[in-house]
This record gives sequence, structure tokens and C-alpha cells, in this order.
Amino acid sequence: MTLNVLKDLWLLFGRLFPFPTRSGLRRAGNPGRSSPVLVTCNFELTVRKVVQALEHDHVDAWLLVAPTKGINVWCAAGGGHFTTDTVVSIIKTSGIESLVDHRQVILPQLSAVGVNVWALKNRTGWKPHFGPVDIKHLATYLNGGEYRADRQHRCVEFPFKERFIMGTNLAFNSLLFFIIPFLVTSILVSGLWWKSILLLFLLGVLNSVLTFWLPGNPGVQKGFSLGLLVSAVFVVISQTAWTMGAWATLGWTGWILMLSTYLGYDMPSWSPVWRADVKELVTGVKRTRVEVIPGLCTGCGLCTTVCPASVFEQNPVTKISRVVNLEACQACGACIENCPNEAIENNFRTGVCSCPTCTVINSVKSHKRKVFKRRKGERESVTANNCCDAEDNACSESECIEHQ
Ligand code: SF4
Ligand code: SF4
Repeated sequence: MTLNVLKDLWLLFGRLFPFPTRSGLRRAGNPGRSSPVLVTCNFELTVRKVVQALEHDHVDAWLLVAPTKGINVWCAAGGGHFTTDTVVSIIKTSGIESLVDHRQVILPQLSAVGVNVWALKNRTGWKPHFGPVDIKHLATYLNGGEYRADRQHRCVEFPFKERFIMGTNLAFNSLLFFIIPFLVTSILVSGLWWKSILLLFLLGVLNSVLTFWLPGNPGVQKGFSLGLLVSAVFVVISQTAWTMGAWATLGWTGWILMLSTYLGYDMPSWSPVWRADVKELVTGVKRTRVEVIPGLCTGCGLCTTVCPASVFEQNPVTKISRVVNLEACQACGACIENCPNEAIENNFRTGVCSCPTCTVINSVKSHKRKVFKRRKGERESVTANNCCDAEDNACSESECIEHQ
């Protein structure tokens, strides 16, 4: 019991580290030959949430848990671990083809960053659909209820509970960078390390929870604003209630400003609504550009389906798509990955994994191969791995489509 609670807390607040669960076929309820088939990642918390949501609403379904290295859907798709290959692999090796009469598969919307539905259909014969962005709408979507394929059910949200969880993850992640400086400075000032850790978590949570209201652009500007605010409160308290010396007050104020600015800089990495781009975060200048090339769009509507930020709008008569909300674009690349006509021009350098932390890691590793700067003639999806990477060997070489 205690162990399970600790594990759940770790899954919630220690997301920096992957937590894989067994990939393969699962059942929710008592699925039959006509039951829906869903795909998800093998991050344990996500699998549990999907099964709970389905069982709570008495939906019988087959669930294909894809080998995504224990990473959540969006990060795995952006990082090249939840790709067309991954889905092909799990369909071919799970045995699902002998268990159902239909060939329809429902993918998480946020997997669109890494999964090309057209390629998936050609390679498997299964017709892919993107389900809702949030698990809470899954049962409604499957039951054909009041699911709305519009902004309300297609856009990512960042509610208070999620902001709180991500704020603690942000602080926990930053602690790994700061733990040695904290311990070293404690040699100079007794007890500084644990006060600094408390401060780090306070600022991490505040940076995340208050992110929509802090002045400035997402990134260092919001972090610095929060630092000023907390410093002002600190100065008042330290000079009235604590009667702290001037040098100590000055030192702590600088410490608060530095930590808060750093946390603000990394904050977009932990948020599903802010674009994480190192230069944008520092300069505050919007660099992302995405536009529909006139004459190439055929109005299939897939860009509006996969976009988690409601950037596109279709003409109600011609169905031709256009950009209406560029500010919200997070450069995730989902629309580019799935537009069948290469009709979406862009200036992205990397996909969703361009957060500060990943940028540093990826610039060292070969992950940069997943480049979104695609134009006509550069279409083929290039991913850093394929299904054969799967640690739990979901496919064997003879079954793997890459080896046929
Ligand atoms: S831009 Fe591409 S994905 Fe969007 S509607 Fe046009 S053809 Fe479809
Ligand atoms: S418009 Fe931007 S946010 Fe929307 S799918 Fe395309 S890249 Fe992602």
C-alpha cells in the first residue's frame, strides 16, 4: 500500500525519468470482435488512466500499449519513440488482427507529432483516427456522444492541478542541476542547502501555477517577474519580522532572482501551452512561422484535427485551411507530419522536443535527425529510431516491417 502510494507520487512528480510498463495488448472491460482498438504509450501512469477512464464509463475496448520507452505520448512522439513504425509494430505483433473484424484504430491526438496516418494506413491496411486530446473525453468520443471535434476537445489545456504537478516536476528537474552548487555554498553559509531546496520548490510551483498571470513573455521574462515579486515580499518580511542584516537580505534577493529566472526559462518545457525555444525564451521574440501554401491545400482538415493549439481554421464552404492563430503555435510539427499535400510551410528547426533541456541533450545526441524543416520533396519522415529499438522487443526481426 505504502509502496503503491510512493510509486504513484514518483509517477506524478518525477516525470523526468521514464516509467515503462509492459507493452502489448490489454483489455478494458470485456471487448469483442467489434470493440474499438486504441493505441497508447507505455508510460505506466497513462496506461492506468486510459484503462480507468474506459472502465469507469463501461466502455469495452482493446488497448495496444506501444513500446515508447516509458515516455508519455507527446514527448515520446516528439522525441522519436512513438512513430509510425512503433504503431505498425504493435499492430503487427500484438495479435489484434485476429481478434477484431474491423480495421479501425484510434490514436492519441498528441501522437500526431510522430505518427503519419497516411503511411500507417498504407503499411497496415488499418484506418487511423485521432482521438480526443484529453482522456476525460475518451468515452464520449467512443460512444458517439457530445464529443466535439473542435477547439474544446482538440486543444491542450493547462489547468491548476496540472500546473501544480508540472511545477513540482520543474523544481525536481532543476534540483538535479543545482544540488551540487547548493551543497558547496552550504559550506560558506550554514543550512543554506535545505533553505535553497525549499525556495526552489516554492519558485518552481509559483512559476507554473501563476504562469498565465505573470508579466512578460513565457520564459526568462515571466521567471524574472516572479523573482521580483517574491524578492519584494521577502525584503518586507526580512526587514520587519526577521530583522535580517542588509548583506544577507541582498544575498537572498539575488538568489531568488537567479533561481526564479532559471526556472522561468525552463518552464515552457513543462507546459503544454508555451513554445519551448531557447532563443525565443531568452529574447521574447516570436520566431515560429507556419502557413498554408496557396493552391496546395485540398481541405482534408487533418491539420485542424491534429493541431493542439487551434492554429488553423477551415473555410466552411471550400474547406481550405488557413492559419488564424499563429501566436499559439508550439511548433510541434503534427500538422506538417500529417498534411498529405505538403501544404504547410514552416521554419521549424526541431519538433516539440526543442525545450531547453532536450535541446542541450539532443544537440549532443543524434536526435536532431528528426527535422521538421520539410518542404516539397523532403517529405519522408526521418526518425531517430524504429520499432526495433523497443527495449522489450515488441517485434522480432522477421515480423518487423523494417526488415521485410
Ligand atoms: S493544409 Fe494540408 S492537412 Fe490542412 S486541410 Fe490542407 S491539405 Fe489538409
Ligand atoms: S500549427 Fe503549430 S501547434 Fe499546430 S500542429 Fe502545426 S506545428 Fe503544432
